Amino acid sequence: MSGFSLLHLVSKSQPGALSPRKRLSGLCCRIRVSGTKKTQVKSFSQEDLKKRLTPLQYRVTQDKGTESAFSGEFTHHKDEGTYACVVCAAPLFSSHAKFNSGSGWPSFSDLLKKDSITESDDFSIGIHRLEVACSQCGAHLGHLFDDGPKPTGNRYCINSASLSFQPKQKVFVNCSSEAEDCPAACSSVTEKSDL
Ligand SMILES: [Zn+2]
Repeated sequence: MSGFSLLHLVSKSQPGALSPRKRLSGLCCRIRVSGTKKTQVKSFSQEDLKKRLTPLQYRVTQDKGTESAFSGEFTHHKDEGTYACVVCAAPLFSSHAKFNSGSGWPSFSDLLKKDSITESDDFSIGIHRLEVACSQCGAHLGHLFDDGPKPTGNRYCINSASLSFQPKQKVFVNCSSEAEDCPAACSSVTEKSDL
C-alpha cells in the first residue's frame, strides 16, 4: 500500500499532472473559499432581528443589501473607538484603520482581528467581488477591495447599517475606572485638567 501511495504522490508531481490541476483551478479556488467559512458561533431568530434592527439594518445584514452611498451614519464619522457588528456586537474595526476613500461608505484598511471576517466570492452584479461577512453571526458587512492605502492595500467597504460604534472610553486621572459615569471626585479632577 505504501508503495502505491508513494507512486501516486510522485505521479501527481510530474509535469504531466499539472494540466488537469490547472484546468480545475477556478473550481478549486471556489471550493477553497467556501471551505474557509466557519460554523457560525451565534445565530438569531428572524423575529428577534426584526424587532431590534431597523428595516435597513435587517435588509443589509440579512439580505446582503447595500445602503445608498453617502447615506450611512458612519461614512464621515471620525470619533475614536471600535466599530462592531450591529447584529452580534463582535468587534470588527478600529477607528484607527478608518480612512476617507471617497466611495460614500465607511472604509477601513485593516481588521481588528484577523479571523473576525469571512470572505466569499460574489458575482451578484456580474463582476467578481469579495463579499465580507461577520465570522461570528454571518451578517453581511460589505466588500473587500485591493485599492486601499499601504501597508495593507486593503479597502474594506462596509455599510454603516452593518455597524455599531463603541466610543473609546476616557480614562480619568487618578482613577482606575474607565467608565464615563465616574464618581464625582474623578470628574472634578478631569475638570481641573481641562483648565
Ligand atoms: Zn456578527
